[in-house]
Amino acid sequence: MRNKIIDGKEIASRIKKEIVSEISLIKKERKFLPKLVSLIVGDIPQTVSYCNSQRKVCLELGIEFEIIKLNENISQQQLANKIEKLNGDNLVGGIILNLPLPSHIKQYEVQNKISQLKDVECVTSRNLGELIYTDKEPKIYPCTAQAVVECLRKTRVSLKGKEIVIVGHSEIVGKPLSMLLLKSKFNSPTVTVCHISTRDLLFHTKRAEILIVAVGKPNFVNSSMIKKGSIIIDVGINKLNDSIVGDVNFNDVIKKASKITPVPGGVGAITSYLLIKNFITLCKIRD
Ligand code: NAD
Repeated sequence: MRNKIIDGKEIASRIKKEIVSEISLIKKERKFLPKLVSLIVGDIPQTVSYCNSQRKVCLELGIEFEIIKLNENISQQQLANKIEKLNGDNLVGGIILNLPLPSHIKQYEVQNKISQLKDVECVTSRNLGELIYTDKEPKIYPCTAQAVVECLRKTRVSLKGKEIVIVGHSEIVGKPLSMLLLKSKFNSPTVTVCHISTRDLLFHTKRAEILIVAVGKPNFVNSSMIKKGSIIIDVGINKLNDSIVGDVNFNDVIKKASKITPVPGGVGAITSYLLIKNFITLCKIRD
């Protein structure tokens, strides 16, 4: 069973090594590394715990990390002004705008205020657009989608002509991931994106040679929903009875799948390091 597991921690440790040597080179050559700033609007416990794990990664890599907490009643204009100020601050190398935002804030509008060169999460229209509409390799990638790609790369399976089904069409996972997988460097698999309104989800999941699940529902996918020998990538991170579980029932599905990512220790283990990789790339481009 063990050889079926796609080990996210192993992938993360390879990326970490690359980052460490990049950081020491930057510090040696430029004697300065800017800080990463994370904006939290309002009081959201999950965001705070996400930021704390981000802080841990930065600490271990020697990157200064600053959390700025903003009042939930902040106006659209005030938030935009705050972002503009950080854009112009040379001590700031990257800006994370944590979601969700209060309902009175227009999310896309404020996200697009982040400078393209400080957009470490790759959420601005310009950086996301470059995933599709450019003849060059994009400079940075959306972290979770790229973490899934890293897991697939680890299997060494060619994606050419593969039937890939993604369950979940959010802006943070499903949509950018589908665009990434359709890039010609992957020899064009056939990508189907399912969501809450998909009429016959089973029809799609059962024919998938690669099934990627990002719905945010604990143990949503079981073995009766998958094709024998398929590769299963579980993006879900859910709290269930004080433990963290994925969207896939791991113990049930591993018997039928050929490869599977665990939770924790799968996609989620890689994402934070890819965010720092984007940070470093953008720091190098800016200077
Ligand atoms: P979301 O709530 O924004 O989107 C959920 C998606 O699932 C939607 O497209 C919805 O239509 C679909 N969906 C919900 N119920 C469904 C059903 N019954 N049938 C088919 N489709 C259904 O969630 P999200 O932000 O994309 O996150 C999804 C999961 O991934 C969560 O568990 C989240 O914690 C996790 N996540 C992990 C990482 C990481 O780094 N590993 C990053 C982001 C999100």
